[in-house]
Amino acid sequence: MNSILLLALVCMVPLCLVCCMRYRQRDEKHRRISQYVEAAFYNFPTAACIIKLGDDVSEDVIIDVNRTLEQLMGWSRGEIMGSTVDSQRIWHNQEQRYDFIAQMREKGETLNFPAELLDRNQTLHYLYLTAKTFDLEDKRHFIVMLGDRSAQRKVEERIRKDNQRYRALYESMMDGYTRLSRNGRFVECNRVFRESLGYTEEELWRLTPRDITPPKYHAEDARIEQDVREHGTCKLYEKEHIKKDGNAFPIELQLYSSFDDQDEFDGWWGIIRDLSKAKRDQANLDFLAYHDATTGLPNRTLLQDRLEHALERARRDQQQLALLFIDLDRFKHVNDTLGYQVGDALLQVVARSVGTLLRDSDTLARLNGDEFMILLEENANMANVTIVADKIMALFTKPLILQDQEIYITASVGISIFPQDGSSADILTKYAELAMFKAKDLGRNTYQFFESGLSVGARERLALENGLRSAVSRGELVLHYQPQINLLTGHLIGVEALVRWQNPGLGLVMPDRFIHIAEDIGIISDIGAWVLQEACRQMVAWQKKGLHVPRIAVNLSVQQLERTDLVSLVQQQLEISGLKPQQLELEVTESMLMRQTGRALEILNALEGMGVYLAVDDFGTGYSSFGYLKRLPVHRLKIDYSFIRDIGQDANDEAITRAIIALSGSLGLEVVAEGVEREEQENFLRREGCHLVQGFRYDKGLPAKDLLSKYKDIS
Ligand code: C2E
Ligand code: CA
Ligand code: CA
Repeated sequence: MNSILLLALVCMVPLCLVCCMRYRQRDEKHRRISQYVEAAFYNFPTAACIIKLGDDVSEDVIIDVNRTLEQLMGWSRGEIMGSTVDSQRIWHNQEQRYDFIAQMREKGETLNFPAELLDRNQTLHYLYLTAKTFDLEDKRHFIVMLGDRSAQRKVEERIRKDNQRYRALYESMMDGYTRLSRNGRFVECNRVFRESLGYTEEELWRLTPRDITPPKYHAEDARIEQDVREHGTCKLYEKEHIKKDGNAFPIELQLYSSFDDQDEFDGWWGIIRDLSKAKRDQANLDFLAYHDATTGLPNRTLLQDRLEHALERARRDQQQLALLFIDLDRFKHVNDTLGYQVGDALLQVVARSVGTLLRDSDTLARLNGDEFMILLEENANMANVTIVADKIMALFTKPLILQDQEIYITASVGISIFPQDGSSADILTKYAELAMFKAKDLGRNTYQFFESGLSVGARERLALENGLRSAVSRGELVLHYQPQINLLTGHLIGVEALVRWQNPGLGLVMPDRFIHIAEDIGIISDIGAWVLQEACRQMVAWQKKGLHVPRIAVNLSVQQLERTDLVSLVQQQLEISGLKPQQLELEVTESMLMRQTGRALEILNALEGMGVYLAVDDFGTGYSSFGYLKRLPVHRLKIDYSFIRDIGQDANDEAITRAIIALSGSLGLEVVAEGVEREEQENFLRREGCHLVQGFRYDKGLPAKDLLSKYKDIS
């Protein structure tokens, strides 16, 4: 009866309780109401029972059930009443049983509890237990209603299956997938995402995107996350992630915001694509687009591109460029007899070997088949290009070793040079190829420069010009020393320093071929300064080795007199070397002297003041006036070689020579005859009183060490 009352109290008619209390004493009325309530509870369309809590779990008993419950569970009211809640047989899941009892005893008030209960026939019922507590006669009671949960369960089941499907789906995705909670932690991470990073899902749950992103992206990330929060999604963007091992890799990411059932923002989800492979593939593609797959060398396209840029630079910097078109001789034969694999291997070896000859600034490309092209960008003058061409030729004099076989192959090379052969990439390429054909015509295994209308002389001059510019810096200049002899004593009285250019392509180039070019292009002062320095150094070096050379004559160019501070240069070199000024003689030509103004005179006076000797070179050719000569601070006249040459044959020349000797005597100057080759010349000079001689009869210009060995003991 109490239970009926309680049902009314709790579930249906709370007001009745008030009534009941008020009219408690009125038993009759009370009895009637109780009957109503009891009937209402029993017939209530929702299954319900009343539980009275005892002192311990085993005393929690069901004290009433209604008909709906009887029908639902298959037991009669009489059978159930008095059984404990703890009864194992009604609980499908024993954990739920503990849980329910614990919650009931501890929490009290209202309970909502999903439960699976077994009926008399062991049929499972998915139920929702709603319990409400009340106290009666000092005992805690619960009224529990058993709502059907099967419909809701279907929904739950569907959601569970959906979730399963959805998880299976994102797990099997080719891209990375992740979901972030509202506070930015990883909640879901699919396999691809986990594996790309090298973390387990559990590890990721403890991380945020920040932990796997290089700091340089953090600010941008924060901005995008905010943007996605406001606008739902963002554009695909690229950044990097850091693997567990610390390595960063490129990714592409699109973020979306997610919302809960109440349409409240509850986090982000994103699709992440690992771009490492894509970037690698792209790089490979780019490489293949510009390189030859067999040799890995730049292909024609890349060469063309580099050539265009090189031409631009060369035009701007007024530099030269060279193209060397290399075609292997009889390569087809190798392919035909040894097969394509050997052919390819040969091309690779050639590519490697030629590559080692070049500088970083040069480009070696494979055009197609057995054709290669070299673009020389630095110092691409004729001399240097010749060196490269020679090296290439030398490469093919030895056999190439391929798979333990020796293969002899040669190449024909055609060369074109910018700007003299042409100014466009096409023309230069074509001309290099034409020159290569010419090399083939000449019997192969050789190189040819493209020949245009340009004369050989002009070509040579161009080549010399270019090489000369860097001759000093590359240490290509050498001095030879021609002895000057006193005929009376036979002693060495001095040497004349004569410069030579040890050109790597042309061999030893004599000064007649390059001094005037050096003067034309304005670098003679540099050469002159080097000669002076080297001459002084050498004199002291000989001295140390026991050869005393009384004096060294150094030729001066007019530009050194006109355009440099010759006086301090000489002073400096004497100081540095430690050579005495009296041991240095400077030769200036007569024509040079005649052109000079007051300033030259000042310079010569200053030099003479320092104690340096001065000689007038090539005397007799410059129409010096006696009066002028007298004013010059010179010590020596050198009779020009052209007068000496014809002594014994030309009376005029003999007369001039005789006059010069007499003139120098009357001016108090020494006189030297140069170019003495024959005995009759020597005899003539002795007779006329010119005892200082220089010429092939005695010696040519000698390298320093030859002079040392020849004169050491007789000086
Ligand atoms: P140079 O000053 O008249 O030098 C003498 C030239 O005559 C040298 O030629 C020498 O080798 C040559 N020679 C000497 N004895 C004989 C001989 O018996 N027979 C013949 N046929 N020739 C003889 P090289 O060395 O070729 O020099 C040519 C010119 O180059 C020199 O004429 C000089 O004007 C110039 N030169 C040489 N070295 C320098 C230098 O360091 N600075 C400058 N500015 N000019 C130089
Ligand atoms: Ca000279
Ligand atoms: Ca001379």
